[in-house]
Amino acid sequence: MTQPDVASTHRDGHARSLYAATMNPAPDRPALAGHHSVDVCVVGAGFTGISSALHLAEQGFRVAVLEAQRVGFGASGRNGGQIVNSYSRDMDMIEARFGEAAAQALGDMAFEGNRIIRERIERYAIRCDLKNGNLFAACNDKQLAALRHHQKLWEKYGHRELELLEGDAYQREIGSSRYKGALLDHSGGHLHPLNLVLGQAAAFESLGGVIFEHSPMTRLEHGERVRIHTAHGVIEAERAVIAGNAYLGDIVPELADRSMPCGTQVIATEVLDEATAKRLLPTDRAVEDSNYLLDYYRLSAERRLIYGGGVTYGGRDPASIEGAIRPKLLKTFPELKKVSIDYAWSGNFLMTLNRLPQFGRLNHNVYYAQGYSGHGVTSSHLAGRLVGEIIKGESARFDAFADIRHLPFPGGRRFAVPFSAMGAWYYALRDRLGV
Ligand SMILES: Cc1cc2nc3c(=O)[nH]c(=O)nc-3n(C[C@H](O)[C@H](O)[C@H](O)COP(=O)(O)OP(=O)(O)OC[C@H]3O[C@@H](n4cnc5c(N)ncnc54)[C@H](O)[C@@H]3O)c2cc1C
Repeated sequence: MTQPDVASTHRDGHARSLYAATMNPAPDRPALAGHHSVDVCVVGAGFTGISSALHLAEQGFRVAVLEAQRVGFGASGRNGGQIVNSYSRDMDMIEARFGEAAAQALGDMAFEGNRIIRERIERYAIRCDLKNGNLFAACNDKQLAALRHHQKLWEKYGHRELELLEGDAYQREIGSSRYKGALLDHSGGHLHPLNLVLGQAAAFESLGGVIFEHSPMTRLEHGERVRIHTAHGVIEAERAVIAGNAYLGDIVPELADRSMPCGTQVIATEVLDEATAKRLLPTDRAVEDSNYLLDYYRLSAERRLIYGGGVTYGGRDPASIEGAIRPKLLKTFPELKKVSIDYAWSGNFLMTLNRLPQFGRLNHNVYYAQGYSGHGVTSSHLAGRLVGEIIKGESARFDAFADIRHLPFPGGRRFAVPFSAMGAWYYALRDRLGV
């Protein structure tokens, strides 16, 4: 049955996605009321916030998390579920712009977020449908050459789990004639993202951590001890971690002008029969193509095709999500022209101008990590570990990211939208022309 686009309505406080419909049971957490005192207060319960909170709780810190809506409400509970290693920029750009030392530090950490996710799943027995392997597909010869180059760069930093599938070899992985080849990362994968964040939240609580839902921070008061205010309470802490990413709005003005929220849309088909699913994705890996405005897809555990793509700047939705994404799906898999779309949703990720993650401090005791620019499943888990390290007093790895200079979008967020839309139009044209 095809449903109307319903991204703006919510189920149990979550976007009405396939993930919300198949989420593991989770408790309703109370809103913050009154005055509380902890070692660390984390704002935002997505991968960044919950991963940070869990690392800190494992080290014995008393931690409280404030979430404006529900745990996993943001991008972490709605994304493509693709475990993609490394960053949204190639290592040679990082070398050229930030130097060898920065590139070495970031290169060493490029696959660590993925390992953290797998450790979490195993240690805390999180049920989130983990599958192995993801592919970067080339839509033209130029993209295939770029993937070959990309493989060499990753190998230079010690990541050797990659296999280039040239010519038709990719068709053992993807049942589409659309591509010129693909790069298979055996160490990547895919999973149910909402269940991953819920599982880590439960692990955090099992260690004594506290989460308040429906508790948006309304004011951040700096000082020797930070005070985080909500409508009905306040948390006083030695340190704070800001992890609101694209949903933070302007509440922390210092973070608003060097990043921009972008929307991306996802649809999920009806359950496919086994033979069809096997034809589309015989080895059950996740796929993203190499276009600037990329398509990404995979099978869910119950054999629905989850297909995402498109970017809207400023986080606005297109008039019809299904209308926007279905043609992309059919371009890749024409045999699905009669398939029904059961779910359509969208979410916001945070883009930076250089497309590298944005980490740093405000004052000496407020830390932030955000702006993974579309590839945040692994980087947000790395961020959590690095936040844990810096609060323990080990700042080197956090600072390798914090030292990266981020420029504001020209004209700030207001003018960033038309500016970026023009850029996107240009890149979409290049994608279409294959140049
Ligand atoms: C549709 C979509 C598909 C994507 N697909 C992929 C993919 O396949 N692979 C990949 O690597 N990346 C993907 N991404 C990116 C990835 O999901 C994000 O980079 C990552 O989840 C960011 O996690 P986060 O915790 O920083 O932010 P979020 O998950 O957005 O969490 C931020 C949380 O902070 C809360 N918050 C905000 N303001 C406040 C406040 N004032 N007080 C309290 N709480 C607040 C929000 O409610 C939210 O729950 C995708 C993103 C989207 C939107």
